[in-house]
Amino acid sequence: MKTNSLILLLLLQLSTLAQKKPLPVIDMHLHALQANAQGPAPLKMGAPFTHWGHADAHTPYAETFMRVSKTGEWSSVTLTSPSTDDSLQMLTLKELDKYNVYGVTSGANEDNIGIVRTWKAANPKRIINAIGWGVYDIQSQKLTVDSLRKLFKSGEFKVFGEIYIQYEGYTLSDSIMEPYLAMAEELDIPVGVHVGTGPPGVIYLGAKGYRAKNHSALTLEEALIRHPKLRVYAMHAGWPMLDDMMATLYAHPQLYVDLGIISYALPLKEYYYYVQRLVNAGFGKRIMFGSDNMVWPQSIGIGIKHIENAPFLTQEQKRDILFNNAARFLNLSKEETKAMQ
Ligand SMILES: [Zn+2]
Repeated sequence: MKTNSLILLLLLQLSTLAQKKPLPVIDMHLHALQANAQGPAPLKMGAPFTHWGHADAHTPYAETFMRVSKTGEWSSVTLTSPSTDDSLQMLTLKELDKYNVYGVTSGANEDNIGIVRTWKAANPKRIINAIGWGVYDIQSQKLTVDSLRKLFKSGEFKVFGEIYIQYEGYTLSDSIMEPYLAMAEELDIPVGVHVGTGPPGVIYLGAKGYRAKNHSALTLEEALIRHPKLRVYAMHAGWPMLDDMMATLYAHPQLYVDLGIISYALPLKEYYYYVQRLVNAGFGKRIMFGSDNMVWPQSIGIGIKHIENAPFLTQEQKRDILFNNAARFLNLSKEETKAMQ
């Protein structure tokens, strides 16, 4: 072969390499929200935060938190949220395409269903419809057990979550959840429940029922025992109550976790310590990636990179977290996973 054609061949190979799609990722925890859902956009978010600051007794904490959300002063690396609903949707879907991500996507804030339908219509391949839900939504949006049953039974919605009752002071084991869990168990719909961290100091930002003790995965235990066929994942992997999380995973082999917000917002040293402990303890087959992206689309790519760059994970463990565990948990068929490559 002549040198010229050899160079041409090499260039061709390089360009196909550059165009090659990244390996697929399943994001078990993606939000479809309006641009102002977390407060008036644009807002800054630590990616990760450097520290969680402090409250000043003489200033309402909500004021402090809003100031920090505008200045980004608790972090050295911040993301800035887009200002319009359209740009947030467009940038999020673009991020999914860029990293070859399939997102289990839920709405919230009185737009739990419609916005997911809109995003799904805009990019049917990338969006797996889920229903965000809290006790408040029973009244406000008539998301009763009967209306939810219809939405799941139709096949349009695949996952029941994020269930954000922790903000309202409830846990999955509370009696109010019983008919909902029985319905999900009967229809074999996976349930994703917020266990672990919300915004720092969220009790003082309006979530009066939120309690630190409910970061514990032990709050799931009675619900798991009552509904042994229910597929459940604990969102945010119950950070920071690691011992409780591991005990619950050990006692209930059907339980999975997603990484959620800790995948990009937690100081990286702590995040790696937490994931490494879960993997070291033997739970690597039940950890799933979740970006918990709200209004900062780049958080998805950052979360994926944090797993890809984790020095303590093998290639196999990384693929388990980014794809294989979720594909198994969601009962995806061989054909479905093949179509995602
Ligand atoms: Zn979330």
